[in-house]
Amino acid sequence: MDFKFSEAQLMLQKMAREFAENEVLPIAEEVDKEHKFPAENFAKMAKIGFTGIGTPVEYGGSGVSDIEKVIVVTEIAKKCASTAAVLSIHTIFAQAIMKYGTDEQKKKYLPLMASGGWLGGFALTEPNAGSDAAAAKTTAILDEKTGEYVLNGTKCFISGGGRANALVIFALTDPSKGLKGMSGIIVEKGTPGFSIGKIEDKMGLNGSETVELVFDDCRVPKSNLLGKEGKGFVMAMTCLDGARIGIGAQALGIAEGALEESIKYMHERVQFGKPIAVLQGLQWYIADMATKIESAKWLIFYAAFLKATGQDHTKIAAMAKYNASTTAREVTNLALQIHGGYGYMRDYPLERMYRDAKITEIYEGTSEIHKVVISRAVLN
Ligand SMILES: Cc1cc2nc3c(=O)[nH]c(=O)nc-3n(C[C@H](O)[C@H](O)[C@H](O)COP(=O)(O)OP(=O)(O)OC[C@H]3O[C@@H](n4cnc5c(N)ncnc54)[C@H](O)[C@@H]3O)c2cc1C
Repeated sequence: MDFKFSEAQLMLQKMAREFAENEVLPIAEEVDKEHKFPAENFAKMAKIGFTGIGTPVEYGGSGVSDIEKVIVVTEIAKKCASTAAVLSIHTIFAQAIMKYGTDEQKKKYLPLMASGGWLGGFALTEPNAGSDAAAAKTTAILDEKTGEYVLNGTKCFISGGGRANALVIFALTDPSKGLKGMSGIIVEKGTPGFSIGKIEDKMGLNGSETVELVFDDCRVPKSNLLGKEGKGFVMAMTCLDGARIGIGAQALGIAEGALEESIKYMHERVQFGKPIAVLQGLQWYIADMATKIESAKWLIFYAAFLKATGQDHTKIAAMAKYNASTTAREVTNLALQIHGGYGYMRDYPLERMYRDAKITEIYEGTSEIHKVVISRAVLN
């Protein structure tokens, strides 16, 4: 066993940490309060190769993979969970193309996504098909005469959907077959018949816009089919296995950021004539927070290692995301408590972290669904 980062990984961590401190932190509050998409930071992340993580060098990517993605997303999430979410979700599109795309699709989309010139998205959820994704009703019926898929239906809660230049949409190419008739279809922004519906007003993660996508006789060429017809559901679940590692990293970063803020505050804040760091009750909170974070960290890196080395990671990725998101909620709660009344005020970053932590227990699969995945794997 080897629990050490390589020299290159340590350098990347240092670079990501400095980037988060110098570029991400200064606008984190504005991103949250103004519900502002962190466009400048996305462009800066593109310049230093973060948007190309997971994409091979031959397609314009950084050539590094899942472990490096966890390192970068964690460091960014310490300062701004929205920016980390934007990066993590953007890379899911490229991962889907890498795994299932044709040569033409790889040549067209990967360089655009890796360079940050384009933003990617992933649309599975529908109003009546959340955890039960197999209940999706959006259709993509092939028009044999024109050689086009015609999409009709509505996707909801799609991250970055209003800004994404291209998204993988999961739709029924053969509704009579249910989930065995689901396929992945690439749809580009501006395609006639594709529009943005409701823009959600959320509790947190305000820099990552969440929208409804509406398809009304939206026509895309047959060549936009991703992988094979009828394999969409399996593809979506496989993509989510990997994506969960990214969201786990986001959760880990939020928790680490909350711990750092708490340590600083406990040394600064004086009550009863002494810094509150001397109070044993609060010291035990710190011990709990640090222990939970350490365990979340190693499970996430283990999941990333399994994926990076091509091993089955479904169970461990579900455990890692479930554990890290629970940790993020519990740690931000304790951190807010340590800050007392100041923690409840928008002048301090804790209330933002507390709100942002919650989403990690819901998207890319709820904690309950992760427990379904884990128990199924353990019992079988
Ligand atoms: C901010 C945000 C961003 C998102 N981004 C995207 C995106 O980019 N792309 C995308 O496709 N989707 C996205 N989603 C959707 C997200 O993945 C779903 O919200 C999530 O999967 C849960 O679905 P639901 O909201 O319909 O809840 P439901 O499925 O209705 O769940 C309601 C409750 O029932 C529980 N439950 C459901 N089934 C079971 C079961 N079998 N056993 C035990 N408990 C169960 C759930 O855990 C939950 O507590 C996003 C959501 C949010 C809030």
